[in-house]
Amino acid sequence: MAECNHDCANCASNCADRTSPQSFLAAQNSRSNVKNVIAVVSGKGGVGKSLVTSLLASAAARKGFSTAILDADITGPSIPKAFGLKDKVTGDEEGMYPVQSSLGIKVMSLNLLLDDDTAPVVWRSPIITSSVKQFWTDTVWGDVDYMFVDMPPGTGDVPLTVFQSLPVSGIVIVTTPQELVEMIVGKAVRMAGLLNVPVVALVENMSYLECPDCGKKIPVFGESHVEQTAEKFGIDTFARIPIDSTIAKASDEGMIERYYGTWLDGVLEKIGAVR
Ligand code: ADP
Repeated sequence: MAECNHDCANCASNCADRTSPQSFLAAQNSRSNVKNVIAVVSGKGGVGKSLVTSLLASAAARKGFSTAILDADITGPSIPKAFGLKDKVTGDEEGMYPVQSSLGIKVMSLNLLLDDDTAPVVWRSPIITSSVKQFWTDTVWGDVDYMFVDMPPGTGDVPLTVFQSLPVSGIVIVTTPQELVEMIVGKAVRMAGLLNVPVVALVENMSYLECPDCGKKIPVFGESHVEQTAEKFGIDTFARIPIDSTIAKASDEGMIERYYGTWLDGVLEKIGAVR
């Protein structure tokens, strides 16, 4: 062990001189009062993490909760498009002001700051992580009951920064039937355990296709394992979302708020977003 220089902030050693646990939590803007932060994670891209974030936020807003989305998927931000947001973020000496959707959801995303939202974001990891942190510290969020964080896929730098800097109260894991669900969920659960954040729900997206004629549920991407996987990892809430072309259409046309389904009601109940 290295000789003690009494700088606990830069030392991982758990010695007798360490007086308090180290916290990396970043302070909110003085004009923010965010009460619950829910992180939406996935093992890889394209499984519907942004969709689940959008549906959870829309449902919470429809129930009358003050709701926000922090789009931490810096290199692949899809929230502004799904909500059809055209305005850009504004700012003054107090901080940055999020753009509001038609249901009043406050959204902060890199695409709302860029002049050309088709320009690729070719940034190194420290810049990306500090942008995400600034979305938390420098945004004037006001009063927010539920903030949903659309995380980049995987367990890299940005998820780690979000979990360390924001007071995340729960994680929602999104998967699809064709993924190696147990492995993906296992990794997310272990990360959650290391960071002391509970996994509140497991969502299987593109779970089945409902036949428009007979209503039969067809497992297009294979049989669902969501129930067994949730049980195996001690996650008491799970949900299944079907493949539905109107979801893709609503998202492409910026109308995701108008899309209504009841599949995520159990998840909302679990996080207390019920009235
Ligand atoms: P991720 O955030 O995991 O990268 P997205 O939420 O952006 O994934 O979804 C990827 C694409 O798949 C989007 O075009 C979205 O509209 C579409 N999609 C997601 N879930 C469904 C679904 N259940 N039915 C139809 N299309 C879907």
